Amino acid sequence: MPSLPEAVTVRAAAKVNLELLVGPRDASGYHALATVFQAVSLYDDVTVRRARRCSLTVAGRDAEHVPTDESNLAWRAVIAVGEGHPEAGPVAISIAKDIPVAGGMAGGSADGAAALVAADALWGVGLSRTELHRLAAGLGADVPFSVLGGTAIGTGRGDELAPAMARGSYHWVFAFSDEGLSTPRVFAELDRLRAERGEDVSAPAQQQPEPEVSTAMMTALLSGDAEAVGQAMHNDLQEAALSLQPRLVDTLAIGQECGALGGIVSGSGPTCAFLAASHEHALDLAVALTASGVASDVRRAQGPVPGARLIHPGKEQ
Ligand code: ATP
Repeated sequence: MPSLPEAVTVRAAAKVNLELLVGPRDASGYHALATVFQAVSLYDDVTVRRARRCSLTVAGRDAEHVPTDESNLAWRAVIAVGEGHPEAGPVAISIAKDIPVAGGMAGGSADGAAALVAADALWGVGLSRTELHRLAAGLGADVPFSVLGGTAIGTGRGDELAPAMARGSYHWVFAFSDEGLSTPRVFAELDRLRAERGEDVSAPAQQQPEPEVSTAMMTALLSGDAEAVGQAMHNDLQEAALSLQPRLVDTLAIGQECGALGGIVSGSGPTCAFLAASHEHALDLAVALTASGVASDVRRAQGPVPGARLIHPGKEQ
């Protein structure tokens, strides 16, 4: 049997929701979702190393906003994998972040997913796909998708996944904001706006139709038609994110002026996601967004990319 590694590094991608439909709040306070996720090439790397005592360090983008205690999703992931496993021991976790924190791109979920896969490899646990999914869903609704990657449909709380029939590669431009948005706060704002319009925000789930992703989006993905994907892009959380950060309206307007095929707030925001027609168009869009000064940072990425994957077998030392 090959010896177990001293350290393992796993890379996990950010996500964008091409479509995000939000049903009313149920009795437990959650909203039924229907979403199309796509994993994009912005990554966090999580290294898990055998150590005398447990620790967690974070470096990179927004590192100062990430908790370094047991509330960190990567820490919780390592504990979840180690439970009942004889090989498990203390580890030093280090996270290299490139995904914005509280940016609506599932950065914390990516770290949780990466840490699950890393701890599994470090200790030779051999988790089955089903077990990995169960542990991921226990950490958070977006974690199963961060494990899976690609393009997928999420229902329930976003954690019931089915791979989407999707062709093609997509060119994305992301405009980051220097101030994050808390996901629960954005959902609460959506409820408030819906109530203001006289909509029933907390009707029993059985009396409400389940949200469903649109045929337009599924057809566009199936044919790999970026223009049609752009037109079908939609996010029910966008109005709430714009209400909490009104300057995002300007960011979206600039993307539209520069001919983005589609432009929406990503997930719960405040990152804005723009779909470009080509590599060159993405470069032009990125330059225009940067020059306008509306965003704190602008990044290009490709999608879809794989989910959490081992990038370092940790055979050194
Ligand atoms: P989502 O798109 O899944 O709604 P998000 O991208 O908007 O999430 P995250 O970056 O995942 O937001 O961070 C949300 C909060 O989670 C942070 O404010 C932080 O307190 C907490 N958190 C816990 N673990 C992590 C982690 N490893 N990285 C970043 N944030 C973390």
